[in-house]
Amino acid sequence: MKIIQVDRSYPEDYIRVFNHLANLFFEDSKIKVKVEQPDMQVTFTYQVEAQTIITSARLVVAGQQYTSHYQKTYENMHDDVQNIRIKRALSHVFLTVLEAHTGMIQEWGILTGIRPTKLYHKMRKAGQTKQQIAQTLHEDFRISHEKIRLMEQIVERQLVTIPDLDTLNNEISIYIGIPFCPTKCAYCTFPAYAIGHHRKKGRVTSFLEGLHCELQALGEWLTAHDKKITSIYWGGGTPTAIEAHEMDALYATLHRYFPNMAEVREITVEAGRPDTITKEKLAVLRKWHIDRISVNPQSYTNETLQAIGRHHTVQETIDKFWLARNEGMRNINMDLIIGLPNEGLPQFEHSLAETKKMQPESLTVHTLSFKRASEMTHNKEKYQVADRQTVIQMMKMAEKFAKEEQYTPYYLYRQKNILGNLENVGYSKKGEESIYNIVIMEEAQTILGIGCGASSKFINSEGRITQFHNPKDPAAYMMSFEEAIEKKIALLEQLEGEQ
Ligand code: SF4
Repeated sequence: MKIIQVDRSYPEDYIRVFNHLANLFFEDSKIKVKVEQPDMQVTFTYQVEAQTIITSARLVVAGQQYTSHYQKTYENMHDDVQNIRIKRALSHVFLTVLEAHTGMIQEWGILTGIRPTKLYHKMRKAGQTKQQIAQTLHEDFRISHEKIRLMEQIVERQLVTIPDLDTLNNEISIYIGIPFCPTKCAYCTFPAYAIGHHRKKGRVTSFLEGLHCELQALGEWLTAHDKKITSIYWGGGTPTAIEAHEMDALYATLHRYFPNMAEVREITVEAGRPDTITKEKLAVLRKWHIDRISVNPQSYTNETLQAIGRHHTVQETIDKFWLARNEGMRNINMDLIIGLPNEGLPQFEHSLAETKKMQPESLTVHTLSFKRASEMTHNKEKYQVADRQTVIQMMKMAEKFAKEEQYTPYYLYRQKNILGNLENVGYSKKGEESIYNIVIMEEAQTILGIGCGASSKFINSEGRITQFHNPKDPAAYMMSFEEAIEKKIALLEQLEGEQ
């Protein structure tokens, strides 16, 4: 833990941002005003002169001193934006002195939020040109040219995939959560419960009964309001962990109660765990005209799969991919994770070589993140992960691979405690992008969450977001789904009133 002393009290939101930035450089850090023996001390100055914000930082570490100065002149300066601009300018100088001290360069600059491309879209919609956006991202946010180029490519691709992205909030997308998996992966914080155990306790059946009710009630509301549905995503957990006849019944309920099903642009079913995929379940998907699934290898090294608790083999991933392909799945996504325990460049290179043989339509490259609630974070010492430089090299390998195999990046998001302060990138062959992934990442429209652990985001015409979370635990879901239906309908009604 590094203790960083600041020269005086700052508002809590400033301290939070300083802490986020310091954590990019040190495993763990704390910003404090009064402390006896700090590891380092930072002194900030700032002043506003007419339209100009002038800031500086001085960092002192073990007798060494690092200084930085930054000023920016704006065309106009209102009270409501001044605070945010001062905070950004202080972040700028703080980042510079931390980079000078550690020798580490943060390619995402001062950007600690999870949706960089949402920021890009915001500037684009405000009328800024590509050049103006690039200049702001580089000069104010300190984002590297390479990452800005990545953002540009993604935004361009998104607008080709969804030309009406900016006006999509008159439609809605649906997320349906099935909270069961064969076993729980060590890095996972999704609502995912071992299905065998819950099946024995009768919780799978009772959860599904609740889910049918929720689908019916919300589907009836959408029908009554003749809502257009952009995309539907079955996630979880693993929605193919349940039996084929249970899947079939759910899709029947969906089609019976949801409006305009023939016009839905995309339906995806996560079949992430290869050990859940069977010929029978693929036939059910085909019956309901679902041909976009995700089969997630994560790694092509058996020891890694064992270490992260996935309990299936590499061969099973390969076999199930080809089974799905031969049974008519036309658009298959595969996920890989950079930085899994005991993996270095050779293992990742091997994963990419195996991916090349299959040529899935899309490939999502995640960087491992230590999420607070995961088994891996609780027992961090058990898991040896690659260092920052190796992780960065792996990401570069993925980028090179994607380019060579004609995959284009089309969405990205970042997470807290992500290795190397990197990102997760979704690549796809042209025309095979997932619409759902774009609308959820860019918060382009309301997403109605149904089922366990499903989060809803109600977005009004001004972009204001109201969230609602269904419980993660199947038992809690059973107790409260009726109340959740009522609350969500009330939020939908409110949105209707505001449109
Ligand atoms: S398959 Fe996915 S949802 Fe299930 S436990 Fe693993 S990471 Fe979590």
